Amino acid sequence: MQIETQYSFIDGEWHPGGETFDSINPSDTSDVIGRFSVASVDDCDSAVTAARSAFPEWSLSGLEQRKAILDAVGAELIGRSEEIGTLIAREEGKPLAEGIGEVARSGQFFQYFGAEVLRQMGEFAASVRAGVNIEVSREPLGVISIITPWNFPIAVAAWKIAPALAFGNCVVLKPAELVPASASMFADILARSGLPDGVFNMVHGPGNVVGQALVANPNVDAISFTGSVATGRHIARAAVENMTRVQLEMGSKNALIVLNDADIDVAINCAVNGAYFGTGQKCTASSRLIVEAGIHDEFVERMITATDALVVGHALEPGTQIGPVVDGQQLNKNLGYIQLAKEEGATVATGGDKLRLVTNGYYMRPALCVDTSNAMRINREEIFGPISSVIKVADFDEALSVSNDSDFGLTSGIITTSLSHATHFKRHTQSGCAMVNLPTAGTDYHVPFGGRKSSSYGPREQGQYAKEFYTTVKTTYLSA
Ligand code: NAD
Repeated sequence: MQIETQYSFIDGEWHPGGETFDSINPSDTSDVIGRFSVASVDDCDSAVTAARSAFPEWSLSGLEQRKAILDAVGAELIGRSEEIGTLIAREEGKPLAEGIGEVARSGQFFQYFGAEVLRQMGEFAASVRAGVNIEVSREPLGVISIITPWNFPIAVAAWKIAPALAFGNCVVLKPAELVPASASMFADILARSGLPDGVFNMVHGPGNVVGQALVANPNVDAISFTGSVATGRHIARAAVENMTRVQLEMGSKNALIVLNDADIDVAINCAVNGAYFGTGQKCTASSRLIVEAGIHDEFVERMITATDALVVGHALEPGTQIGPVVDGQQLNKNLGYIQLAKEEGATVATGGDKLRLVTNGYYMRPALCVDTSNAMRINREEIFGPISSVIKVADFDEALSVSNDSDFGLTSGIITTSLSHATHFKRHTQSGCAMVNLPTAGTDYHVPFGGRKSSSYGPREQGQYAKEFYTTVKTTYLSA
């Protein structure tokens, strides 16, 4: 069967590129989802130029025009969430329900920022000088490069693009090369949304060429990136070279603390959800389970049973709870960490092996490692797979100290019935998001999201905090 090549979207047109790459279904590697042409460095520069040319008009566009477009994009995403969610499940490998949920959530991001368009209030101040008044207002930045990972193919792009457009900026999106079909479907919605040509552009291709071209271009005013720490570090350096504003959301090693006084059912539900759903490929996944000694053995026993009961399968198969790993490279990386866990002296209490199912996909059984210490590499490095480690601790103080002993600080959680411990944890946990009696994964769309330490760099994303990144402040002094 002839596979039609899909293009990048530049200045209002679908634009053919050079060589092509295929998107493969990780649940069934015989299923080629699409073929995509790689944008050249010149194409990337054209996209930035188109965005720059569109900026003067878009930055001054009427608020109702912007709101109408954002609302319509949101409504289309929500209305087509089943169809687009199916594509995400097929391309990324998350179970269908999670794919549908991601698309509906992406629609909510657009609708939320559609409402924010009408809430752009400035401030007024009296001056220390008689007869002078002061206004503090916000203005859009210009051209934003948006570089996204594969694990939430549409949601991460949506939570960046919606505020960028709402506040009057133009965008060039560079989606991850593992999920170009989902990105293209999303781009098609934006292409038909009534945005003037050049306001939204998308370029396909590898990060070290296409992403790099967007990062290196001095006509880009800001870069919003989500991905690994290594790439983020590189982007930050390049951004400083051009004095470009930058926001980075990166890796994690999130801890879930389980105290002796925890409701064990809540603990197991939160741990299984946080550690394994989305095949553990969430930046908010609970990869370290820090468990107080008194509940440790019961927790481990119940976790083994719950983990073994998870249904691993084709993302589109009804009943599948855990889909495949995203690709062969990530699967090998996961299996390598299982081997390392054993070498470091941990016990793999269950799972961690490759699974052969009816279709040829990148399947593995979710793994629970026990007898681990926080010094082990499996507890220090981000794995990004369905692998979780139990670390036994003597008491709450040790639990908190182990939880905070990490290079990362995105989310953290505690399962406890003690108000005093929950309150102390909330104040002293060194993470951007803190969860009490909830999984470490799962956040709302109208409040800030981000982390500390190596997990994040720059202003927070989402909610009203998004304007800190997507606008610049002007202080005007007026004398009558
Ligand atoms: P990655 O860093 O490999 O790639 C992310 C994006 O950067 C891709 O689009 C890639 O093509 C691009 N890129 C790669 N090299 C580049 C370069 N030199 N210049 C510019 N762009 C470049 O990450 P990934 O494997 O796609 O995603 C997994 C990572 O994302 C994990 O570390 C995960 O924790 C993180 N993540 C973080 C959050 C968060 O909000 N903190 C959310 C989702 C994923």
